[in-house]
Amino acid sequence: MLNIILFGKPGSGKGTQASLIKDKYSLLHISTGDVFRKNMSNNTDLGLLAKGYMEKGELVPDKVTVDMLKDEINNFMPCNGFIFDGFPRTTFQAKELDNLLLEKSLKIDLTIALDVDNNSLIDRLLERGKSSGRADDQSVEKINMRLQEYDNKTKPLVEYYNDQNKFYSINGIGSLEQITSRIVEVIEDYNND
Ligand code: ADP
Repeated sequence: MLNIILFGKPGSGKGTQASLIKDKYSLLHISTGDVFRKNMSNNTDLGLLAKGYMEKGELVPDKVTVDMLKDEINNFMPCNGFIFDGFPRTTFQAKELDNLLLEKSLKIDLTIALDVDNNSLIDRLLERGKSSGRADDQSVEKINMRLQEYDNKTKPLVEYYNDQNKFYSINGIGSLEQITSRIVEVIEDYNND
């Protein structure tokens, strides 16, 4: 099993890279953002609840997110490993994920952060917003709210995973292929250790 967290600010490219890496290593890709959006388009109770938070650029409450994640993991087991994208985003979520994996005698192997400066992120998200139709990509105010949520709630996870010697950061600026190979290098170093 290889369990990886792709970490980074909104727009840092986690989703794009996760789908490339999952194919290379036959992992299951779990994107909490995608699961929320699927629920929103199906008008489920969960979707309706998440919608209000997501459209404002705020995080969805931990309990709701963790329950959803547990269902996803249980539905996908057994498998070769997971690549998490957009989860965990708070210390509570990180601890819950560790507990859940521990119950299955599993663990997070690597947390790989895609490092991109805020100005580039804002440009990327506004550009994506032109075609994605995502409400949270439509204005600088909403994007700034998401960046603030990251600083307040998600950034402490850098220390959480650093303390466990599981945190790696790579430059998230470059071509898709360059970034994929930076991620692959971290995984290969880990696998060869
Ligand atoms: P991005 O990384 O560009 O913000 P995502 O699709 O990962 O895009 O997330 C979009 C929104 O979905 C977040 O702003 C938040 O409202 C909600 N969300 C996704 N994952 C989580 C999570 N782990 N905890 C709480 N809210 C989440």
